[in-house]
Amino acid sequence: MNIINGKKIAQDLKADIANRVAKLDRKPGLAVILVGDDPASSVYVRNKDNACKEVGFYSEKINKPANITQNELLAEIKRLNNDDKIDGILVQLPLPKHLDTNQVIETISPKKDVDGFHSENIGKLMQNKPHFRPCTPKGVMTILATIGINLVGKNCVVVGASNIVGRPMAIELLNAQATVTICNSKTQNLATKLQQADVIVVAIGVAKMIQGTWIKKGAVVIDVGMNPLDNALVGDVDFDAAKKVAKWITPVPGGVGPMTIATLLENTLMAYHLRKEK
Ligand code: NAP
Repeated sequence: MNIINGKKIAQDLKADIANRVAKLDRKPGLAVILVGDDPASSVYVRNKDNACKEVGFYSEKINKPANITQNELLAEIKRLNNDDKIDGILVQLPLPKHLDTNQVIETISPKKDVDGFHSENIGKLMQNKPHFRPCTPKGVMTILATIGINLVGKNCVVVGASNIVGRPMAIELLNAQATVTICNSKTQNLATKLQQADVIVVAIGVAKMIQGTWIKKGAVVIDVGMNPLDNALVGDVDFDAAKKVAKWITPVPGGVGPMTIATLLENTLMAYHLRKEK
């Protein structure tokens, strides 16, 4: 069994980005909008802001009150779409219920959509002509490449089908020529499906749900879940049981999480270059 050091892979990626940024004549710029003061979202936004500083990006952390109107939020995004210092725009999700998340995402210029959630970018991913790829699934693909997993013809099971993780994750694996099964909360016989899998990616948000006995010996297990439990953070996989059968496994924390942020920086640097080229 090998525990995948996502933190180290992310640090190497950030070091490479910092080296490249040092040679540029302008700092790549990322704007992160936080609506309200949800504690988890506030931590994610602070981590993203710190990561920007670490690699030498220009970063704007924009806090808006929870009662902001849809029009006010859209106006802020349009301002950033036209701001030359800004290459990437990210709106921290989830948004308060009175706001239309879909319209917010669609208002971000697809050229600055470093989260890769705009329908234009998701459409390109579906057609295997990716532009900006959603950060968490792209970060998982970087992990798999780094540990040397050849996905061609492999049986991959993705548990979870959200727009931001599960669905784009499944398409990423399909684009890599794997055979992909996508499961959701209505899936029958999940354990049987997982027992066939060479690679398992879990993103459901249910603490320690995936049991060690559901995992094939020698499988690769990628745990995207982040669940607070007894003052700690745990994944969606029962790590202690799973690590006994898996060949490779990500820990929580220190697995996928750091890769999501490093990949956001990677996408922002790509946005910088694409804007410069035009
Ligand atoms: P989400 O929007 O709540 O979606 C959860 C998905 O899991 C849904 O498709 C749901 O099925 C499915 N699901 C729920 N319970 C299930 C069960 N018992 N069996 C099978 N499928 C089940 O969640 P998300 O935003 O994708 O996030 C998932 C987890 O990943 C959370 O813990 C989140 O904190 C974490 N996360 C981590 C990162 C990172 O960087 N590490 C990034 C994003 C999210 P239905 O479609 O049927 O409802």
